[in-house]
Amino acid sequence: MCLAHGLRRAGIDVVVYERDRTRRSGLHGYRVGIDPHGSRALKACLPPDLYRTFVATCAKPPERFVFLDEHLRRTLTVTLREPTDDVNDEKSVSRMTLRQVLFTGMEDVLHFDKTFIRYSHEPDGRVTAHFADGTSDTGDLLVGADGVNSPVRGQRLPHARLEDAGIIAVAAKVPMTPESTSLMPEGVFPGIGLVLAPRGMACILHWMEFPWADGALKDGAGGNDRELLAAWPGLLFDNTRDYLNWGFWASTDKLPADVMQRSGADLVRLVTALTPRWDERLHRLFALTDPSTCFPINIRTSVRVEPWATDNVTLLGDAIHTMTPGQGVGANTALRDAHNLVLALTSGRPLPAAVGDYEREMLAYGFAAVEASKKQSSLAEGRVALAAQRTFLRATDRIPFLKRRFEAELYEVRG
Ligand SMILES: Cc1cc2nc3c(=O)[nH]c(=O)nc-3n(C[C@H](O)[C@H](O)[C@H](O)COP(=O)(O)OP(=O)(O)OC[C@H]3O[C@@H](n4cnc5c(N)ncnc54)[C@H](O)[C@@H]3O)c2cc1C
Repeated sequence: MCLAHGLRRAGIDVVVYERDRTRRSGLHGYRVGIDPHGSRALKACLPPDLYRTFVATCAKPPERFVFLDEHLRRTLTVTLREPTDDVNDEKSVSRMTLRQVLFTGMEDVLHFDKTFIRYSHEPDGRVTAHFADGTSDTGDLLVGADGVNSPVRGQRLPHARLEDAGIIAVAAKVPMTPESTSLMPEGVFPGIGLVLAPRGMACILHWMEFPWADGALKDGAGGNDRELLAAWPGLLFDNTRDYLNWGFWASTDKLPADVMQRSGADLVRLVTALTPRWDERLHRLFALTDPSTCFPINIRTSVRVEPWATDNVTLLGDAIHTMTPGQGVGANTALRDAHNLVLALTSGRPLPAAVGDYEREMLAYGFAAVEASKKQSSLAEGRVALAAQRTFLRATDRIPFLKRRFEAELYEVRG
């Protein structure tokens, strides 16, 4: 959608085909962290009012990033810098709300209930996309932005491979209430809490507080935002309420073989049983989970693909460089691709050369992010590894030079 906005603003005719049946359908997860790379791409591609709506619909921004042990004792606290503008900050976004923002104003180019199955080339070289309902559409360029299981990639690069990262995650939402917030560790929120526990198990905690609830603005929503949000049609489609979001993960061998078939309360019980020595507040928080929101994710990562001969079918985002959530940059990299592809296609270079420019650059930073994310996802499983990790975090917390270096690396990765 970011690419489609950017191309349309540049006067290029664009059509988007989406598998979801309607604007509201699909469960696309809960929270996504948008960093300056992602914000920069969105700002460049979206109409200015829509970018402002995106900013106004973000949750309260995280102020710090805190590492904790399983007893909720802090090992390292990184205070995030005050934003200098509406791009250079960390944003916590509800995925479904971001989707509504990106659909806004695109009703004429967006077709739901269209499942892409294959493409073919016309005698004049143009490309035709074929859909499961028997319809098709022909254009100059096909961009597969169809996620981790991309059927466009399956046909374009049949040799491209995905690997299991050996990690299973379980994510869920807890309604934000006085009881649930009282269980969150002190000194972390609004912020991001990361529990690193023995046996390579971990849990991330997010605080998602929005300026509206149930399609209506809260009393506190301020001046310009109030006007902007009141005029935004996406509010009608959005049923977001404030929530806490937890995401647990561990290596696949720590979980039962049927974990991917489990859901709801059963999964919540499983996470509780796997973490008997974790702080009681975490168990009480798990118990307050809305069971209908709990689901497992088998984390996968892509294997580097060698450059290919460019034509008029290309790929963007997870379709080409699925990565583990280790650095939280998969969506940001997808947005960066969208912006770069807009720049390439509006550079005045002929079509195949412009696509080739985009692919060269995208493969370099995309797979660098895949590999760095994989490294960051390695779990400290043994006692020695965990002790070393904790020593490193505590030392970084206390020694200003180490802390500055840690922060500089964090800001570098996140653009
Ligand atoms: C637990 C977890 C946490 C994460 N946290 C972060 C984070 O904080 N920050 C971050 O940057 N990244 C994060 N990521 C990664 C991020 O979610 C992905 O990288 C991002 O969603 C990729 O976007 P995309 O548009 O390429 O693909 P997707 O978001 O998967 O979108 C693909 C779209 O294509 C549609 N589609 C699929 N198949 C077809 C078809 N055959 N025909 C038509 N349409 C089709 C889908 O319905 C969907 O709308 C996280 C990932 C996980 C698993």
